[in-house]
Amino acid sequence: MIIVMKPGAAEQNIRSVVDYIEKHGLFAHLSRGEEVTIIGIVGDKTKLSTENLSIYKDVDRIMPVTESYKLANKKFHPEATVVKVGSTSIGTDNLTIMAGPCAVETEEQLMTIARAVKKSGATILRGGAYKPRTSPYSFQGLEEEGLRYMQTASRETGLATICEVVSLDAIEAAVKYVDMIQIGARNMQNFILLKEAGRSGLPVLLKRGLSATIEEWLNAAEYIMSEGNENVVLCERGIRTFETATRNTLDLSAVPVMKEKTHLPIIVDPSHSTGASRYVSSMAKAAVACGADGLMIEVHNDPAHALSDGPQSLTFEQFDGLTKELRPFCNVVGRTF
Ligand code: PEP
Ligand code: MN
Repeated sequence: MIIVMKPGAAEQNIRSVVDYIEKHGLFAHLSRGEEVTIIGIVGDKTKLSTENLSIYKDVDRIMPVTESYKLANKKFHPEATVVKVGSTSIGTDNLTIMAGPCAVETEEQLMTIARAVKKSGATILRGGAYKPRTSPYSFQGLEEEGLRYMQTASRETGLATICEVVSLDAIEAAVKYVDMIQIGARNMQNFILLKEAGRSGLPVLLKRGLSATIEEWLNAAEYIMSEGNENVVLCERGIRTFETATRNTLDLSAVPVMKEKTHLPIIVDPSHSTGASRYVSSMAKAAVACGADGLMIEVHNDPAHALSDGPQSLTFEQFDGLTKELRPFCNVVGRTF
């Protein structure tokens, strides 16, 4: 349920409504727009009488929110959320590009890639230190050592950093070194991990699960937000379908659907969705054209010898070419880059 207050409602009248909600053991979420304040109610609303609420001063109208996700819901928070990540922000008019290797391999490798992606316009360095691979025999990541290299690269280049976390220990380590944590597709419904990510205090990039519906994905975001962390960014990375020509099927319709359902920013990962570097550029442009707030792209200094996801990684030249080709697509949708 949301309570829409009248434009310019008095602070003490907003406070009275919040007090009434809290007195009934429910949580009141405030979204303050330029003129209108919306109070969202989270919890068992059968405990409340809407008739009583409707006679509170400055209450304009009371509307039900039937969706199971509340804090992530656009009805709770009609204005688009901007998520600050280190030196940059996601969800502004500026397109955000996160780029870097699938896995952090060596300090030298990471530094070389960080300098190159920064030169081409990326503002966030991605790099996996904990790699949840399909096979247990594949490279599993450098763990805390990899996080340290991410911090060194950030200090040298000024890039913000993001790293995937796969366990509570990884979250504890990540908060010491990086600006944003990533919940990978395979962990999208690991609810204990989602809650811990919510408590970490860091912004969270939530990738869509391999077979997750939009509703399940939004409920996963709700798990993070219900721990008091509203800094969540969604990432469409392809879903599993019957199609085998690409690694996954990139569901670009998720972008406009999410823009309708939630205030959270959404970015697109054309690397993990296609699984092939030759398709990355087309899908990156399409993602910008349909309104994505940003892109996550895998870039490697030597894709042929990458320890993970080489076939989908762009070379420095390919990445630089792509960023230049993206500019007109940004212009068409009114974004800068
Ligand atoms: C990744 O970003 O490195 C990754 C493993 O992605 P996903 O969880 O989307 O497969
Ligand atoms: Mn990868």
